[in-house]
Amino acid sequence: MSGKDGVIATDPVAYGRPQGGAQYVAEIRKVTDKPIKYLVYSHHHYDHIAGGQAFKDAGAKIVAHRKAKERLAVLKDPATPLPDEVFGKKRNLTLGGTTLELTYLGLNHSDSSLVMRLPKEKLIFMVDFIPVGSVPGRGMIDFYPLEAEGSIKQVLSMDWDRLIPGHPGPGDRLGTKKDAQDQLTFLQDASDAVKVAAREGKCWDAVEKEMKLPKYEKWLGYENNLPFVLRRYCGLWGRGTRGSEEADYGKKTPRNPGAFRLRLAAASARADPDGSASCRPSAGSACRPRCGTRCAFRTWSTGPCLSSPRSDRRCGHRRAW
Ligand SMILES: [Zn+2]
Repeated sequence: MSGKDGVIATDPVAYGRPQGGAQYVAEIRKVTDKPIKYLVYSHHHYDHIAGGQAFKDAGAKIVAHRKAKERLAVLKDPATPLPDEVFGKKRNLTLGGTTLELTYLGLNHSDSSLVMRLPKEKLIFMVDFIPVGSVPGRGMIDFYPLEAEGSIKQVLSMDWDRLIPGHPGPGDRLGTKKDAQDQLTFLQDASDAVKVAAREGKCWDAVEKEMKLPKYEKWLGYENNLPFVLRRYCGLWGRGTRGSEEADYGKKTPRNPGAFRLRLAAASARADPDGSASCRPSAGSACRPRCGTRCAFRTWSTGPCLSSPRSDRRCGHRRAW
């Protein structure tokens, strides 16, 4: 994205090509001499984001979801510099009057995938997450099958007309909402079919070798990629593999609500140790704070309002933890 104040670039795509990042910068230089202000990592997979150093050398700030940074920090790939700036849910980059909206929708193709949207142009760019007219293949390795369906529904509810996929679809065309809906239906069909087969004990070999989804046989990559899709759903329905528990990140509904509430209570206690900012006794009760969920584990005493995972909530009772 190039404007009068500078350039926002995404994904250097220089995996296995040490000069790839510099080549990309050189191509941008053919179009504009404005400064490259940002490089956005679409997600943490190297086939898309390796090669960022040339952008840093050109003065760009690398922006990504914070989970991408966590992933990359552990692996220390020399071709992939860590992001300079991370965020959790949403970040808008505005240059020269044009806004690029970055949104994180939770777990789907990876646990760090972003939707990049140009609201005025009604254009979205999503890498690997919603392929256009094609069967996803190796991208299924890091895929979160249950959560991805919810993410695609969220994408469908956003305001856009055209979708740029991370890999060219048939005829290199842009995607539409129908393509996104078709991809969702394809995943649901694959999931339903494998669920039945898995419960008949057919995961992995029988499913991967024998299962066909003829409705999609015209899609790009059908022959080669379908086994990857079936393997991932065999992981889910045949082995109970949903994805990393640790990666359960950014979801609205926590997988373990009890643990989530304890973390929330701990965070709340740290942020507001004496409870004075958030907990006041309700009008009708001398002991229960009227503070909603944030204080679900708090007891009110004459002194501080303390967090306790096993509070008996008796008036005046306090228990540290
Ligand atoms: Zn990917």
